[in-house]
Amino acid sequence: MSTAITLQSVTKQFTAGSAPALRGINLDILSGARTAILGPSGSGKSTILRMIAGLEDPSDGQILLNGRDVTGVLPERRGIGMVFQRPLLFPHLSVLDNIAFPLRAAGLSRRAAREAAHPSLDLVQLPGFEQRSVSSLSGGQQQRVAIARTLAAKPTILLLDEPFSALDPALRDDMHALLTRLRTELPPTVVIVTHDRDEAAAVADHIAVIEHGTLLQHDTVERIYHRPTSLAVARLMGGRNEIAGTVQRARHHSDLGSIPVDASTPDGPGTLVVRPEAVRIIASPHETRPGEPTHTATVQGVTRTGIRRSLVMSSGSALVTADLPAGVEAPVGATVTFGFAPDAPSVVPS
Ligand code: ADP
Ligand code: MG
Repeated sequence: MSTAITLQSVTKQFTAGSAPALRGINLDILSGARTAILGPSGSGKSTILRMIAGLEDPSDGQILLNGRDVTGVLPERRGIGMVFQRPLLFPHLSVLDNIAFPLRAAGLSRRAAREAAHPSLDLVQLPGFEQRSVSSLSGGQQQRVAIARTLAAKPTILLLDEPFSALDPALRDDMHALLTRLRTELPPTVVIVTHDRDEAAAVADHIAVIEHGTLLQHDTVERIYHRPTSLAVARLMGGRNEIAGTVQRARHHSDLGSIPVDASTPDGPGTLVVRPEAVRIIASPHETRPGEPTHTATVQGVTRTGIRRSLVMSSGSALVTADLPAGVEAPVGATVTFGFAPDAPSVVPS
């Protein structure tokens, strides 16, 4: 597969003397991939997107689109469509004319632009909205119009900068479903910036995790969740369990005992990380699986987030958090037996 977007040692410093917003970013985004750039607020996500779009220039390093260095290439010549958190529509124009606007600006006649705008309105599932004024639309509908406007210009790369973070959760889910349904109609390469890991997992197949202007890991969604390469990524992805210990011949030794880990794990000090949903509470002996190592711990407490309950338990100095299945009670002080889902634990440098 070819590479749609390449960042080569890209650094961005907005003001001389201050800390750079981005440091030495190397990132290859494959053509056809859906990539989420995920990181906390201020980590440099928007700056990456704006440099790809040509709205900012790198202070150092190169950006390549389809293998071509685009230094000095104007934003409108990059074949990129960009959607922002706010829809930025023209309030005095109809929905259709908002979508047709970039086509008009590109030189199409009013009639040709309107005709070309229709299919994008169908794509975002707003047929019949042509003549509506944009101010009569809900936030979610306005964002659909903004997406339709971007798609009408037929970009080869679609960049979305926190496009749904101003929407309420139900609408956000609708927009995720829309993006998923549109997979074949959208430009082949899609990059979405988000600070929400659930959103990243819902719409992307690859995640680039950034923090403090540094790219920590770029991998499939699956690997980012289950094979973080650093404690920072494990934490950003909501992995709550960090058990200090030592690796020796593909086994991690700690207060929890000896736990098999990937054969490639180097010997030496390492922190075992495992997601709470991969910790299996064994409520009665017949729930154990043949060959499954089990551990025991003492219940420290149960916390609740929405409908989910988290069980915190201790074994020596190791604290383990697990999702507590419905119907299982775990009073403080009780002894609990648990196991890990196969291949779930992995080790990151301490
Ligand atoms: P994110 O999108 O991850 O929230 P940004 O890319 O917007 O982060 O910003 C990264 C850092 O760069 C922040 O510290 C921000 O204050 C700084 N920054 C962004 N844009 C500018 C600008 N135009 N001038 C000066 N500093 C900026
Ligand atoms: Mg941003």
